Amino acid sequence: MYDAIIIGARCGGAPLAMLLARAGHKVLLVDRMAFGSDIMSTHYVKRTGASFLHKWGLLDALREVGTPAIRELTFHIDDVHLKGTAPGAGGVDTDFTPRRFYLDKILVDAALDAGVEGRERFTVSELLFDDGRVVGIRGAERGGAEVTERAKVVIGADGVRSFVGEQVDADLYVDAGIHTCGHYAYYSGMRDQNDAASLFMDTEARRFYITFPTNDDLDMVFLFWPTAMAGEVRANLDGAFTESLKLVPELEARVASGTRETRISGSHILPNFFRRAHGPGWALVGDAALHRDPITAQGITNAFTHADILAEEIGLALADDRPMDVALEAYDRRQFEQLKGMFDYTVHLAMLQPLPEQVVGMLPAVQNDDALTSAFIGAFMGSVPLDEVFPPELLNRFAADVERGHEENRRVA
Ligand SMILES: Cc1cc2nc3c(=O)[nH]c(=O)nc-3n(C[C@H](O)[C@H](O)[C@H](O)COP(=O)(O)OP(=O)(O)OC[C@H]3O[C@@H](n4cnc5c(N)ncnc54)[C@H](O)[C@@H]3O)c2cc1C
Repeated sequence: MYDAIIIGARCGGAPLAMLLARAGHKVLLVDRMAFGSDIMSTHYVKRTGASFLHKWGLLDALREVGTPAIRELTFHIDDVHLKGTAPGAGGVDTDFTPRRFYLDKILVDAALDAGVEGRERFTVSELLFDDGRVVGIRGAERGGAEVTERAKVVIGADGVRSFVGEQVDADLYVDAGIHTCGHYAYYSGMRDQNDAASLFMDTEARRFYITFPTNDDLDMVFLFWPTAMAGEVRANLDGAFTESLKLVPELEARVASGTRETRISGSHILPNFFRRAHGPGWALVGDAALHRDPITAQGITNAFTHADILAEEIGLALADDRPMDVALEAYDRRQFEQLKGMFDYTVHLAMLQPLPEQVVGMLPAVQNDDALTSAFIGAFMGSVPLDEVFPPELLNRFAADVERGHEENRRVA
């Protein structure tokens, strides 16, 4: 009998397992893939996310594998050019850009070092229920016999399609639709990147671009298109990449100075939702609970936030300070309250629509003032509360975009 079984050993599951084991609890962590393997995802870890790694003592391991620390961000919004540094968060004043096979390995190794029992290449095929309550799992290692394991709580850290979410029939209570498709590739020898990340937004052509240096002397270039173009983009990825880069000559020149080292990969399934993330004997963390477009590079930070809150709540329950189901409900409420604002901002950006009047009005002043630039970039990075930068009408507009996405989605369904 385990205290907790966690399905999925990446940004949500591995830190949660580590935190529970460090607190003395007996944890089983399983993943159907090899621990620390690569996954389709870019990997901009904002300083808000990195502050968790700092708190957990894992930032040095990230530096040791040569992960760039990103100090400066340039944000090109049509003809407005912002360049600055976001305020720090939790004692960390840079962002980090670790390839996922480095980051995920560091996370899972930390869990195993803390005493977690790990089983890789182990697929969970069934949840065990007792009177409506999740009490365990059934599954098997690749090529192995099926086994059952029991725990006081079972956590799905199992990604956007969440097997656990499906088994417990957890509804998407906010479902703001899909608005972009995104594809990326790695380049060597690209000039002018240094320790800076750059974002480019072309509101007329409805394109968004992100580029940053990463491990092993490579640079990552990520392009977003409106989802209506997904078919066209997938039919000719190389052509779509080349054509879209032409719209941003500065980035096109940088890319042309390097050599593409990988194929272009990405996804057209980038939904925006909150899924009910708790119930009797179960909880969801990371993408399983909350998925949003990668345009704001918020997923890894969200998964760390979930792990941090849920470990605290489950810890209280396992210490008999509160009933488990009350703790799980508290986790779900807290994560929603903490992450909904950035979710709204993300959906708003992902819609790749003309800039709202309020933003058009504020950008010239922001461009000419270092403190305002820092705050604007900090809002994107999550180190400055959104309501310190954007007026209430704009925050309402972000929330209204989510509502609109939700309504359109419901109509289509
Ligand atoms: C194209 C793209 C670019 C992105 N770029 C960024 C970025 O720059 N910055 C950022 O912060 N976020 C980014 N994200 C988001 C980020 O990848 C996710 O938020 C993050 O991976 C979520 O981690 P997770 O642990 O919740 O889930 P996942 O990373 O999806 O891991 C889930 C794990 O569960 C396992 N699993 C699933 N079902 C089972 C089962 N039945 N049995 C056993 N194991 C199972 C899977 O094998 C998998 O390893 C990007 C995403 C995409 C798609």
